[in-house]
Amino acid sequence: NLILFQAGLLALLAVAENVGEFEKIIQLSQRFPGFIFPCLGVHPIQGTAPEPQRGAVLQDLDAALPLIEKYKDHLVAIGEVGLDFTPRFVSGDADKDSQRQVLIRQAEIAKQLDLPLNVHSRSAGRPTIHLLKEQGVEKALLHAFDGKPSVAMDGVKAGYFFSIPPSIVRSEQKQKLVKQLPLESMCLETDSPALGPEKQVRNEPKNISVCAEYISKIKGVPLETVMEVTTQNALRLFPRLKTLLRA
Ligand SMILES: [Zn+2]
Repeated sequence: NLILFQAGLLALLAVAENVGEFEKIIQLSQRFPGFIFPCLGVHPIQGTAPEPQRGAVLQDLDAALPLIEKYKDHLVAIGEVGLDFTPRFVSGDADKDSQRQVLIRQAEIAKQLDLPLNVHSRSAGRPTIHLLKEQGVEKALLHAFDGKPSVAMDGVKAGYFFSIPPSIVRSEQKQKLVKQLPLESMCLETDSPALGPEKQVRNEPKNISVCAEYISKIKGVPLETVMEVTTQNALRLFPRLKTLLRA
C-alpha cells in the first residue's frame, strides 16, 4: 500500500497496515533513502490470509507499539490508522468501539511523537472526522475518503488534508469530493495496489499522474498548479520530508 504525491515522484510514502509489514517497510525505506519514507501504524482491519479479516482490537497494538518506538526517528507519519465500518467486518457497537480505542491510542502516540496521522476511513467518514477532532488531532491526512463532501468540509475546517486516488476517474463520489474541496486541502495518492484507474487492475505509483490530470480537469486549473500546490500541501503536512528529501 503506497501513497505518494507529486507527479515528478519527488517522494513516496510506504504505509503499513499491520505489524507484519513494519520491518519490510523500514528496509524498503533504507534501500531508497531520501525517496521512500516509512509510515507505521495499525489499520482498522486486521487479519492477513489465511486468517479471516476482522476489526482491529487493542491487543493488535502490543507488538506494534515497541516497533513504532524503535523506529520513531525515521517515521514521517503514524498510519494507516482509522475506522472501517464495512458491514462484513463489524457486527456491532462493540467492534466499532474496539476500532475507536485502537485509533485513539495511536492518535495519542502521534501527538507524543509530533507526527501526523495517515487515516483510513470506510463507511465511517463522519465518525472518523468526529473522533479526530474530539481527540484534538491537528495534522491528519484522510486517504481515499468515501464520505460526503459536506462531512469532508468539516475536516477541512479542522485543517485536515484529503488525498485523492486514481480511482477518481471511475468514482462519482470522489469527483464530487474534488469539486468541493479546496486545492489547498488536497494531496495525491495512488494507494497501490488498490484504487487504480481500472477496476481489478493492479495499481502502480506511476498512476499518480492520473489523479493530477483529473483534478486539473475538474478544477479547471493548470496541471502544473495541481502538482505544485499538492506538493506544497504534502510538505506542510509531513514537515519531516523537508529535511529528509534527497538533494
Ligand atoms: Zn486505506
